[in-house]
Amino acid sequence: MTGLDGKLLAKARERLAATKEENRREAQRRRAEIYAKAPEVREADARLRAIMVELFGAAMGSGGDVAALERESLDIQAKRAETLTALGYPSDYLDEIVCCEKCRDSGYVMGHMCSCLRELYEREVAQSLSSLMLMGDESFERFDLTYYDDTVNPRTRVSPRMCMETVLRACRTYAESFRPGSMNLLLRGGPGLGKTFLSACIARVVSEKGCSVVYQTAGDAVEAFEEKRFSRLDGGEAAGTVERMLSCDLLILDDLGTELPGGVVAAALYSLINHRLTAKKSMIISTNLSEEELRRRYTPQIASRIEGEFEELEFAGSDIRAIKKEREA
Ligand SMILES: [Zn+2]
Repeated sequence: MTGLDGKLLAKARERLAATKEENRREAQRRRAEIYAKAPEVREADARLRAIMVELFGAAMGSGGDVAALERESLDIQAKRAETLTALGYPSDYLDEIVCCEKCRDSGYVMGHMCSCLRELYEREVAQSLSSLMLMGDESFERFDLTYYDDTVNPRTRVSPRMCMETVLRACRTYAESFRPGSMNLLLRGGPGLGKTFLSACIARVVSEKGCSVVYQTAGDAVEAFEEKRFSRLDGGEAAGTVERMLSCDLLILDDLGTELPGGVVAAALYSLINHRLTAKKSMIISTNLSEEELRRRYTPQIASRIEGEFEELEFAGSDIRAIKKEREA
């Protein structure tokens, strides 16, 4: 699996370690509980440990009756189980507690990531996404086409709804077949047409596959670049954000054109876009700007790279936020 986010993976492993520690404490608590009620269990445990040592010695060639030791061990274990049952506890009450039998809570099986750790990792990814997104319930199923006018334009012979059906299908296919290195998308159209919503849907599906996704408004992206440039040494949090934007499998740059204009912004954006294109890393950019505006606002290099290397999806309709309000009223 490629493209795991190191920071999020570290968090997932911390979680696993915390669970392990919690289980260890619980096992300790259970032992103390039982030893207080049945001191003979403590003696049994001590004897079982001693037998282990003796068996180990026998295996190393220091002699000892292995068969007798094994018989004694089984006897003690049986009696110990009986005692526990008599006290009203399950017979495995004092066994080591593990949440995952496959990896015994180590997170890895034969050098491969265990499904339990993968799950924790995906939860971290989802959380880091939802902290960045406003709504949190984005899914393709919830994309409501009825907000888009179905009046056919006699000139183009399509309605905004037909147009958006195509856009929705394209976004869905993109998300479902995403692989690191998939093509870049440019979501273009006026405000309130669902560009952010559909980018969020894509982000969710792609991250559920275990690919790393970073969602950032163009404004925040530029800000992080600037902060990193002006802070000395490691650059702190901004450096981490920039690193994540450069290295993730899919970068979603939302609302290009809404950040403050200026040469510094253009340079930061160029650096970001260029870096990712050169590294063949996938990007989705959404913008309200037309081709013409894009060229005027940024350098011709940025405009031509975007036009040349992004698949464009044109959003249609009128601001659905206004229609939503009307419907709710
Ligand atoms: Zn596991």
